[in-house]
Amino acid sequence: MDFSFTSDQETQRNHLKELLDEVCPPEYAESCDNEARPPREAYEALAKHGWFGLILPVEYGGTGGSAIDLAILLEEAGRHFEELAMWLFRTLTYGGYAVMQHGTREQQQALLPKVVRGELSFCFGLTEPHSGSDAAALATRATAVAGGYVINGQKVFTSGMDISDYCLLVTRTSTGAKKQQGVTNFLVDTGLPGIEVRKIKTLGQRAIGTTQVFYTNVKVAASAVLGTVDQGWEAVDSYLWYERLCLSAARTGAATAAFEYALEYAKNRQQFGRPIGKFQAISHKLADMKVLLDVSRMLVYRFAWLMSQGKATRVDAAVLKLHTGEAYKAVSDMGLQILGGYGYCMEYPMQRFFRDSRLATIGAGTSEIQRNIIARGLGL
Ligand SMILES: Cc1cc2nc3c(=O)[nH]c(=O)nc-3n(C[C@H](O)[C@H](O)[C@H](O)COP(=O)(O)OP(=O)(O)OC[C@H]3O[C@@H](n4cnc5c(N)ncnc54)[C@H](O)[C@@H]3O)c2cc1C
Repeated sequence: MDFSFTSDQETQRNHLKELLDEVCPPEYAESCDNEARPPREAYEALAKHGWFGLILPVEYGGTGGSAIDLAILLEEAGRHFEELAMWLFRTLTYGGYAVMQHGTREQQQALLPKVVRGELSFCFGLTEPHSGSDAAALATRATAVAGGYVINGQKVFTSGMDISDYCLLVTRTSTGAKKQQGVTNFLVDTGLPGIEVRKIKTLGQRAIGTTQVFYTNVKVAASAVLGTVDQGWEAVDSYLWYERLCLSAARTGAATAAFEYALEYAKNRQQFGRPIGKFQAISHKLADMKVLLDVSRMLVYRFAWLMSQGKATRVDAAVLKLHTGEAYKAVSDMGLQILGGYGYCMEYPMQRFFRDSRLATIGAGTSEIQRNIIARGLGL
């Protein structure tokens, strides 16, 4: 068993780190969060340096990288700024991976070269007001008409809809015996008439954030269907696996940044004539944080490896999502405690990790749902 990265992967990570140190330093992340401003400059710099093509085939301008390469990219981006990693992951997953796996040749030729050049952004519209954890109970309707479909319904928590060119929208096109039947995915141009987007105020993830979207008689061409009509749920499942890898890598990166900040603080902050890190109550927290992060990283790269071997299971994805989300939440909570009153101040970055990490056990499948999946895998 070999736990090391290849020398190419080490070089790639170093290049990426150098670039992000320059275009996405902590002050930049802080100002984007404070001003609720998407990290556009950093996003464009990643595109300019070719990172959007990492997992896409060479024929579309990509470099055909592996799931491990992708995890490295997301971990490093998340370590610099989680919202940058989230934006990147949405485009790579719903624009890159989804179109590559489920798109027609025409869709691939039209969209993938633009994804590689960073010219298009994508988001994902699955959750609805009445279907959250029970995602397949979705009700947004796409009705076939001459030349295409008319979409009516409402989505909630479509993150980044207001800055995206396309939304990968999950709709119901028919009613089958099971709720997973009759589901169809569309690539919907976000500028179409009949789409209304409202921003939702949230605790964290403020730079890009999330939205509520209303679809009223939105007309789309038949060519906007992604994959097979009425059989889209299997594709949704495949995006969710991919999403779990990307989110877990990004959040492990963000948790690492929170840990590094707390460690440095504990070495420098003096109370009772010594650095607070010399108090066992503080040093043990830091030791626990390191263990949580080591396990997170191992799970991220194990899952990436399993995916690249075609061996990943639903339970593996749930174990990954559950641990990395809970670990990020615990690490940022302990980090805040280590900073004492300063952890609670908006001038210090720990509050951002604390706020952002709260979503990690909720979004893309709650921790409770992950435990259900793991328990089912145990035959319970
Ligand atoms: C900031 C943010 C960004 C998001 N971004 C996106 C996005 O881009 N696209 C998108 O489609 N969605 C997005 N989501 C939606 C997210 O995936 C859902 O919020 C999540 O799946 C939970 O659904 P819910 O909020 O409706 O909670 P509910 O499903 O109502 O759950 C409420 C509580 O009940 C528990 N629960 C529910 N069912 C069970 C069960 N069977 N067993 C045990 N406990 C259960 C849950 O774990 C939770 O604690 C986002 C959400 C947020 C907050």
